[in-house]
Amino acid sequence: MRFSASFLDRASQAIRRRPTISKLIVICALSSGGVLAYADAKSDHDFETSELTRKKKLVVLGTGWAGTSFLRNLDASQYDVQVVSPRNYFLFTPLLPSVTCGTVEPRSIVEPIRKIMHKKVGGIKFWEAECYKIDPTNKKVLCCSNIWTNMDGSGEFAVDYDYLVIALGAKPNTFNTPGVVENCHFLKEIEDTQRIRRSVMNCFERASLPELSEEDRRKNLHFVIVGGGPTGVEFAAELHDFVSEDLAKLYPTVKDLVKISVIEAGDHILTMFDKRITEFAEEKFQRDGIDVKTNFRVVKVSDKAITMTSASSREISVPYGMVVWSTGIGTRPVILDFMKQVGQADRRVLATDEWLRVPNCDGVYALGDCATISQRKVMEDISAIFRVADKDDSGTLTVKEIKDVLDDICERYPQVELYLKSKQMKDFIDLFKDANSNAVKESKELNIEEFKKALADVDSRVKMLPATAQVAAQQGNYLAKCFNKMKICEENPEGPLRMRGSGRHRFHPFRYRHFGQFAPLGGEQTAAQLPGDWVSIGHSSQWLWYSVYASKQVSWRTRFLVVSDWMRRFIHGRDSSCI
Ligand code: FAD
Ligand code: MG
Repeated sequence: MRFSASFLDRASQAIRRRPTISKLIVICALSSGGVLAYADAKSDHDFETSELTRKKKLVVLGTGWAGTSFLRNLDASQYDVQVVSPRNYFLFTPLLPSVTCGTVEPRSIVEPIRKIMHKKVGGIKFWEAECYKIDPTNKKVLCCSNIWTNMDGSGEFAVDYDYLVIALGAKPNTFNTPGVVENCHFLKEIEDTQRIRRSVMNCFERASLPELSEEDRRKNLHFVIVGGGPTGVEFAAELHDFVSEDLAKLYPTVKDLVKISVIEAGDHILTMFDKRITEFAEEKFQRDGIDVKTNFRVVKVSDKAITMTSASSREISVPYGMVVWSTGIGTRPVILDFMKQVGQADRRVLATDEWLRVPNCDGVYALGDCATISQRKVMEDISAIFRVADKDDSGTLTVKEIKDVLDDICERYPQVELYLKSKQMKDFIDLFKDANSNAVKESKELNIEEFKKALADVDSRVKMLPATAQVAAQQGNYLAKCFNKMKICEENPEGPLRMRGSGRHRFHPFRYRHFGQFAPLGGEQTAAQLPGDWVSIGHSSQWLWYSVYASKQVSWRTRFLVVSDWMRRFIHGRDSSCI
């Protein structure tokens, strides 16, 4: 008996997808041509329905702030969810500096990702592996496991997706400075904190050995922090507390030789904070004897010395015992490769639209530190906005026409609202007072040129979101909610009017809400900058810091551990064992 090529093709497809029914087809085919036609038609129909009813494959890359927040809020019963990450736990990064000196123990700030996911109805699969290539053309991610090897000995495997959520975070940025990778510590992962803690203790033990010159002891006890951002400053403060509160008692002979330096390329440390906080931090560090070197750029780090330059001095090299490099973040190689494939080779960071979608890349979303939202400019769409608003096609806009689309404009282009706030205007219509330098009457009509003029400066208010856990977690939460209501919103879109197309956007665009930020400065003092430019510095903010960070813990287990670590530190101090 002979079978047509198309039959064999379909049969093999069906066998792969529905083995039971397919076996039936083959048995029937062997017995009768008539039954064959029936069975074949049934498999086609079945295949189509199964394609429709099959849960879509949703692959999440990364188990950091963005990935975990997405998974915690996702209705996993709607999708076939697979998670790929080399880290099988969630890490509470804001407490990393506290772990470097033993204020908090490493296991207190991590939670196994399987524990976070296991309560999910529908189940989530986790693969402990690293994604080394994203292939958007074939809708696959290629992964590599470090703890397993396949038949060809490589540990590589591929995962297909319908939807891909990229939450890979970022890597430390060295600015290609020679010697940094080889000789400096980073402060990004839990392993980094353990290495730093051991290294601090080794420096103290080395400096205490007999027969060392005072110069050698000083060198060993010179701790250098490169980067005066929140992480570098917090680590410097932690280290200072560790030395003055615990180590000074245990190493009385060398305690006066300790030096902590913070090297910053800009004019000040903590530049992302209010000026009052920057000034307070600089003064406090001066009182504490922490040497803040601003306007210095590190050009090289050897195994013995760190070399820097400034506009006013020649290159200087300073011997050190330990260097922590904390100068911000850079894009991971796998993201750079993906950016090349999707036409973003000329960018530094992967750009998404306001719905966290990667443009021109079906079903791919990116969030957290690995991506940035590229906010559409009003001026790019000005003619389209005008057309949408001008409902009666008169070529002019009445105040009523503008008011009708105002909410949609402000939602689609949040810079409009920010601009109004900055100008202390309550209403969009007030903008046109500016344009015409007199009050707008309800009867006034604007032509396109007047409309453009009124909105000319609005785009200067477009704001880039900072690379913080707060942003990443809110994005994860937002995207999960979009995925949860994907079907509902396909039929009833909830977003703003499409300015370039017709109808509405499926979802509301992502909006970030800033809840404030902290800068712990040591000595039980913290600077807090809360929304509305409310600044608080001192011991009271330290208590606010304790309560916020305890409440933000991902589980009751870590909350309990972190709080008990703080209590242990109050009672017994920090442990200086070099393990
Ligand atoms: P991450 O949390 O870094 O997660 C990335 C995930 O991707 C990880 O699970 C990683 O293992 C995984 N991954 C990496 N490569 C691959 C790969 N190839 N394949 C698969 N998975 C991969 N923010 C605040 O808001 N407040 C703070 O107080 C604060 N303090 C901080 C202190 C320190 C010391 C640091 C380092 C950061 C701090 N941040 C803080 C910033 C915050 O941690 C980041 O903005 C946040 O972690 C970003 O979340 P993310 O999910 O994008 O990336
Ligand atoms: Mg009109």
